[in-house]
Amino acid sequence: MDTRQIQTLRSHSEQLAAFIIRLSTYYEGISVDIDKELGVLRHHLSAKADYTLASISINKLNQLLMLEPVTVKTLTQNWLRQLTEDIHTFQRLVTDQSARELAVKTAAALEQPSATITTILPLYEKVLQCYKVGLSSTDAAIRPAANDSQALQLKQNLVQELEQLVQTYVLINPQDDYLASLHERLGKGLSEEELLSSCLILIRVMAHETIAEANNASRVIQRLCNALHNVSDDAQNSIAKSTDSFDARQNRHLTLQAVITKMEDAVANNCDVDQLKQQTQLYLDQLAASLNAGEQADRTEQECLVNTLVSMQQQLKVLQRQTDSYRKKLIEQRVNMYTDPLTKIPNRMAYNEKAEKEWQRCQRADVPLCIAILDVDHFKRINDQYGHAAGDKSLQAIARHLKSQVSSSELLARWGGEEFVMLLPGYSHANAPELKNRLDNLRKGLSELPFKFKHQRLSVTVSIGVAFCQHGESLASAFERADKCLYQAKSDGRNKIVLQDQI
Ligand code: GH3
Ligand code: MG
Ligand code: MG
Repeated sequence: MDTRQIQTLRSHSEQLAAFIIRLSTYYEGISVDIDKELGVLRHHLSAKADYTLASISINKLNQLLMLEPVTVKTLTQNWLRQLTEDIHTFQRLVTDQSARELAVKTAAALEQPSATITTILPLYEKVLQCYKVGLSSTDAAIRPAANDSQALQLKQNLVQELEQLVQTYVLINPQDDYLASLHERLGKGLSEEELLSSCLILIRVMAHETIAEANNASRVIQRLCNALHNVSDDAQNSIAKSTDSFDARQNRHLTLQAVITKMEDAVANNCDVDQLKQQTQLYLDQLAASLNAGEQADRTEQECLVNTLVSMQQQLKVLQRQTDSYRKKLIEQRVNMYTDPLTKIPNRMAYNEKAEKEWQRCQRADVPLCIAILDVDHFKRINDQYGHAAGDKSLQAIARHLKSQVSSSELLARWGGEEFVMLLPGYSHANAPELKNRLDNLRKGLSELPFKFKHQRLSVTVSIGVAFCQHGESLASAFERADKCLYQAKSDGRNKIVLQDQI
């Protein structure tokens, strides 16, 4: 190798060393270990370069880089994703108009293709600026995130309750247009204002129903009162008539006494037979007339009595009919109150009423109890793709199937929306496999139900969460555990059963 060649080589390696130094400075800040080693490498390459030590350092760096899976590219992509999520959250939370506009612009900028660190840093600055504007704007421009999710949960619960109530009232008032449109709107999701106005509509309907019911009840009571009044009038009249006829009979009795006394006198004082005969005939005629009058009076009195009795009987019959129909109506109302109008199985109110009693009974009798919560998977899709009516029909079919799978000692209820709850006595950790097997069959049975929408065969599946009630604990806390299991079944991919001990 001649000197010219050696010089060229040296100049190349010096150039390379300078380049590596610049590059290492550029990448500083990824990890502490790499930074340290980059510093060592720079030292070996600067001034009096020591290529042997530099190559050892490069080897170490190589190993470190292989251990470090995060490259600058993935880092920048992660940042970009995080920034996009942040600005979207911010957009949801912020109410201040100028901060909102800034957030929208920044979100648009974030959506532009930009995968290098130098383009991301200015965006990062923009997002920070958004936060600054949002935070500095007055009047609680940003709602706390925790409250937001609570509000969301509250809203979901409200919508569910509303759906149930509306269904009940739609069945009672099929011709109410307001209710029909509300029923339809509920299926499509509601804004806060719509939710509020829906509640108002429902309150109006409920008030109307309550007033109508109160009017109805007062009408029935009024009729009962009238009927009783009539019966009491009849009885009064009958007593008055009895008193009158008692007086008349008393008078007739006196007349008879008088005639008999006169006859006795005539017999005692008269010696003339003809005269006696004549007088006796006269008294006998008077006697016969008085007895006839008595008989007639008795007959009239009896007829009157019979008439009064018949009228009273009729009044009582009417009264009985009215009370019977009212009682029937009350029973019907009570049944309706505890029955879900769509699926005809017990509703949440029935569950709340019966579940606690059942749990007390089980604890007293030392019988274990378990709660299973079922939620239809991706039910919203059925509504979205095939319409609310198809959704309703599938809920009815699901409820029918569930009903056929529970015994009379078990409780099945529609908890709300597309959620069902079952209380199953007799199951504990000890026979959990048996329970799992039973619920698995039920789950499979449901997925095999023949659903057909728009000539398309569709499989509807459910996820189930199960909790075993522990002696002494509240049913609500067991319910919460079952709900957590249900959540787990959903995140595990749906169409699954998760028992309490599996999470
Ligand atoms: P996931 O698998 O996570 O449970 O998804 P999902 O779609 O089933 O759950 P989500 O809670 O998002 O949606 C439930 C849907 O059920 C929304 C609501 O409109 C609908 N729904 C609730 N009650 C009724 C009803 O009585 N009839 C109909 N047709 N739809 C209902
Ligand atoms: Mg649900
Ligand atoms: Mg669901």
